[in-house]
Amino acid sequence: MEVKLAKTAGFCFGVKRAVDTVYEQARQRKERLDAGEENVPDIYTFGPVIHNEEVVKDLEKKGVKVLRSEEELMELREGHVIIRSHGVGKTVYDILEKNNIGYTDMTCPFVKKIHDIVKRESEAGKYIIIIGNPEHPEVKGIRGWAGNRVSVIESEAEAREFCLGNTELKDESDNKICIVSQTTFNYNKFKYLVEILMKTRYDISVLNTICNATKERQTEAEHIANEVDAMIVIGDKHSSNTQKLFEICKKACENTYYIQTLDDLNMNQLKLKSVEAVGITAGASTPNNIIEEVQNNVRLNF
Ligand code: SF4
Repeated sequence: MEVKLAKTAGFCFGVKRAVDTVYEQARQRKERLDAGEENVPDIYTFGPVIHNEEVVKDLEKKGVKVLRSEEELMELREGHVIIRSHGVGKTVYDILEKNNIGYTDMTCPFVKKIHDIVKRESEAGKYIIIIGNPEHPEVKGIRGWAGNRVSVIESEAEAREFCLGNTELKDESDNKICIVSQTTFNYNKFKYLVEILMKTRYDISVLNTICNATKERQTEAEHIANEVDAMIVIGDKHSSNTQKLFEICKKACENTYYIQTLDDLNMNQLKLKSVEAVGITAGASTPNNIIEEVQNNVRLNF
């Protein structure tokens, strides 16, 4: 049986960079503790470093704690905080600096670029529109650089409502709008929402800030799913990009399985036995060791 593993499966550049940094800092901390050093700061991540329970549990075992909110951060008096690839709003940096807490900023450079755009454009007097999911940490972070004059638009209904007249846009200067996007937003939907917003009376500049990593992973997954008899998508059940990958693969290949780890795959063994070619892909927050494990198991057992 042939196994086709997607080249883009797993961590994207920004996530890999952040996760590697957390593991490296945990390793260095252990080394210092083992050497008998005192007052070695605890390591915290602001929010789980990735949407993957396995990795978060593994890091917990290595002594990395997770701060879940700005309130929790405000209470921190010592320790070292790592900012994950999603990035954070300005208030988080303000709290860290005010309380003299050391930090490592692992905001993905592509997200950082959006923070810079939003800060610059809002300071220049523009109203900011972020196309994305308002509940996503990345969007909350971007919003945190836009001052008060900002809207997050995710759906057609919200875009149309905005066009009918936004009560927050009162004075002349508000006629200038800057639109950016969450890095993982669907490009076609972004284009569609921008088309609706362009019909307003406002002077709009549009910056497509969608990251190619997501698109490339989706395109490759769809391509492989079209060529195989069974497709395995590996990722955390809460990871939205893995859910999206699963949807895309399922459309192309009915025999598609969504698993978190190798344990979930065992249930499906019987169905996989009769297939000739299996494709494997994984979401942006799936660690390499899980992908390898699944791949090796499929190669050995089917
Ligand atoms: S998806 Fe793109 S923007 Fe987001 S963390 Fe990965 S590389 Fe950075």
